[in-house]
Amino acid sequence: MEYFELLEEFLIKLNELDSHETERMTDVLGGICRYLGISLFCMNVYDNAGAEKRGDGRSLKYYDSKAESEQVLAIREDLDVIGVYVCHIYCETGRTLDKKAQKRARYIALTVMSYVSRKLFKDKASRLTYMDADGYYNLPYYRKKLHDYADEGKLSGKVGAYINLKHFSVVNRKVGRDNGDMVMRNYIKCLADTCGEDGIVARFGRDRFFLLFDSEDLDAVLEVLSGKEVSCESFFEGKIFVSASAGIYVLPKKYTLNHSADVIDKLVMALNAARTTKRKDLVFYNENMEFVRERSSLLYQLFPSALANEEFCVYYQPKVDVNRGRLVGAEALCRWSREGEIISPEEFIPLLEQDTSICKLDFYMLDRVCRDMSLWMEQGIEPVRVSVNMSRKHVLDSAFLRGILDTVDAYEIPHELIEIEFTETTTDAEFKDLKRIVAELQREDICVAVDDFGMGYSSLTLIKDIPWNVIKVDKSFLPVDEEKDDTVRSVMFRYVVAMIRSMAVECIVEGVETKEQVEKLKANDCILAQGYFYDKPLMKNEFEKRLVKKVYN
Ligand code: C2E
Ligand code: CA
Ligand code: CA
Repeated sequence: MEYFELLEEFLIKLNELDSHETERMTDVLGGICRYLGISLFCMNVYDNAGAEKRGDGRSLKYYDSKAESEQVLAIREDLDVIGVYVCHIYCETGRTLDKKAQKRARYIALTVMSYVSRKLFKDKASRLTYMDADGYYNLPYYRKKLHDYADEGKLSGKVGAYINLKHFSVVNRKVGRDNGDMVMRNYIKCLADTCGEDGIVARFGRDRFFLLFDSEDLDAVLEVLSGKEVSCESFFEGKIFVSASAGIYVLPKKYTLNHSADVIDKLVMALNAARTTKRKDLVFYNENMEFVRERSSLLYQLFPSALANEEFCVYYQPKVDVNRGRLVGAEALCRWSREGEIISPEEFIPLLEQDTSICKLDFYMLDRVCRDMSLWMEQGIEPVRVSVNMSRKHVLDSAFLRGILDTVDAYEIPHELIEIEFTETTTDAEFKDLKRIVAELQREDICVAVDDFGMGYSSLTLIKDIPWNVIKVDKSFLPVDEEKDDTVRSVMFRYVVAMIRSMAVECIVEGVETKEQVEKLKANDCILAQGYFYDKPLMKNEFEKRLVKKVYN
């Protein structure tokens, strides 16, 4: 065959080559190399100059049996984005390449280089399209795979999930950002393994991921989501516990995908439900959520006018000294009364926490509480300390303290009669600000309580580093009736109460519903309780009766 025929054959074969099929290079280059008298054609590809120095690259090679050879040509090409290419061409000992053959060999080398770099560039481009900077697949990839699977008829019956790693900023705070990344990688790898060969794991935002997997893997995936110990060498125990909240959607057996958003929307809805239901981390999508979503957006839109129309009112839930059977305080809880319906805070507070609307509501509540207290005092009723819930959204507001003092002082309420309840915070910045705010409030003699203690991940850090006046032990710690003394919950309850007492911090247990639970409190020297056993949150006039009487019997 003549040179140009061989060249044509070479170009055709080269075009058929997949980007990394280096072992087929011998075949591709064979004809043309033999014709030119080249016995060894060796090209090294490095991602960058650093990789070249380390010798960390891939090589493409053609060689024939006449291994004893001698170098004739070295060609080097630096392509900024794509990498460094170095090609060595050898020929048989005793043979030389004439000028014409050298020119042709150079042409072949450059063609291979440009071809391979084009392929690598395409790979890089697709990496950029479908992967994020940390090497996780991204949302466009998840969308593409949904469509690919739909086209291949593989989507029906699959399970989608949208997950949010829990307390990951706390993990980062504990082990540092780099180790945190490693913990996330290990956890996600474990999830990906559990999702099986066809499974998809794609990241959307820092600690959120979309999954897609076969329904037979559902149980195993749920187990990993509920929590898994992941190794983390730098952490003192070498292991760290990671769990996730998740919205899950089991696709119907006969499913037609019109748009990837059909699946993604449902997953987002289910995850939102999981995040706003305090005690449920894994939530399956159901059609009812569409109504919930509509109602949520309606309530959210109605909020500003409802606040202006004073549709929100304060309910007071008594706090009781269990030994003396006496009312000693109360918590102000918000209710939205709309067209005769009483809407629970569980329904609207999470909506208002999406932005800072909640702050407006909290200050409104504080204002109403102060107004009520000043009326009681005017009437000569001895007041009790009332706690007001403040969302952690306030923590980043520099005018927060001023706002509290302005309200409390406007009604001339003695500061010691006001208590502010905060729930745990999760980010470093918030934590620092929370610590500062607690100190500022205490300087003004306003009590500060940590709410729902024990629910969060950071509980111990939270009480170690911040000198709270009151710790409200979450009801999930409270043993139920007839629960044995050696269950994990009973033991933890005892230790938690003892720990708080030994720190000389006021301890109150929430959600006390039965006589037996009251006895448990007494047995553990915990004297303060709040819960249905004594009272549900009461309307103002009902609460006034308790306030006047003060005793429970
Ligand atoms: P929370 O601060 O933990 O309030 C205690 C919740 O537990 C109240 O629910 C109360 O009704 C309920 N509870 C009290 N005793 C018992 C009991 O014995 N058993 C059971 N199962 N539950 C009991 P509520 O009033 O529905 O409030 C829910 C949450 O909404 C509150 O939880 C609080 O996080 C939030 N919230 C309520 N009002 C406000 C407010 O004005 N501002 C802010 N930021 N959040 C509020
Ligand atoms: Ca509370
Ligand atoms: Ca609580």
